[in-house]
Amino acid sequence: MSLLLVGSTNAAVGFAAGMETLRRGGSALDAIVATIELVEANPDDHSVGFSGLPNLLGEVELDASIMDGRALAAGAVGALQGYQDAIALARRVMDDTPHALIAGTGSARLAAESGLPPVDLLTPEAERVWRSRLDEQAGRDDPYHHHVRNVVRALADDPEHAEALHGTVNVIARDRNGDIACGVSTSGWAWKYPGRMGDSPIIGAGNYADNRFGAAACTGRGEMAQRLCTAHSVVAFMRCGMTLDAALTQAALDLHRLADPYWSEVNIVAIDAAGRYDAVSTVAGKTFVVQTEDMTAHQERERRFVPAPA
Ligand code: ASP
Repeated sequence: MSLLLVGSTNAAVGFAAGMETLRRGGSALDAIVATIELVEANPDDHSVGFSGLPNLLGEVELDASIMDGRALAAGAVGALQGYQDAIALARRVMDDTPHALIAGTGSARLAAESGLPPVDLLTPEAERVWRSRLDEQAGRDDPYHHHVRNVVRALADDPEHAEALHGTVNVIARDRNGDIACGVSTSGWAWKYPGRMGDSPIIGAGNYADNRFGAAACTGRGEMAQRLCTAHSVVAFMRCGMTLDAALTQAALDLHRLADPYWSEVNIVAIDAAGRYDAVSTVAGKTFVVQTEDMTAHQERERRFVPAPA
């Protein structure tokens, strides 16, 4: 079977390592972890792992998930503090515990038990961004959820600014055996309510993989992908006979139907059982990265824009 890596644009820093893992005969799961852990370590990426932007209280909270398309095993962590290796920990949840999702202090406990090194995730630069927006807020004694609403609404009016304040890495891999796996990791939305988890750690929302039909992963406004189980829907649409192209288009059209008073944008990348890949966005001008076996390096491509129906 031919090898494939496809994912969000910021995954590019890990693609050489991921493809090398696949070429050496590593599994799709190994390639996912090899790719994403480099993104989590990248200090220039404020949407994932180390140097991620913090929640409303100034704490960096990470979400991650991994899914094995062979027998649909999955593991995830949510609101993880104090450890950078969220994707490796999600794999631990899948491999070493009877659970599929562990959040909060439990996830940090598992990281410590697993021997992962504790890391201070908040960098001075991320802290400066966090403080800058908080200082602009009136009524600082208001309940936290008022702040969250105000910040997210302000971002909705300023999509360019919003672009810098959220993000996620996702990767779908296909190995020599034809097995597929999907991984997602994020620090989520800056200034999110403490404990808020997006689509990234929710199997079916931001991540889904099934060898028989394909895989899908989302970035963008996680609450929307949660409401529609978007990643699972794409795979289910293909299961019901839609082509990859049609499944992605349908998922994007469904997203456009959601009422959402906040900033809304969702991007989806997916593959089908034959290893064809495609990516869409509900907004124009977004990109993704792909590397097939015959490519010597990853390539950045434009996502297909699916506009809202008139
Ligand atoms: N999907 C992520 C979340 O909602 C954020 C993003 O991808 O921009 O946490």
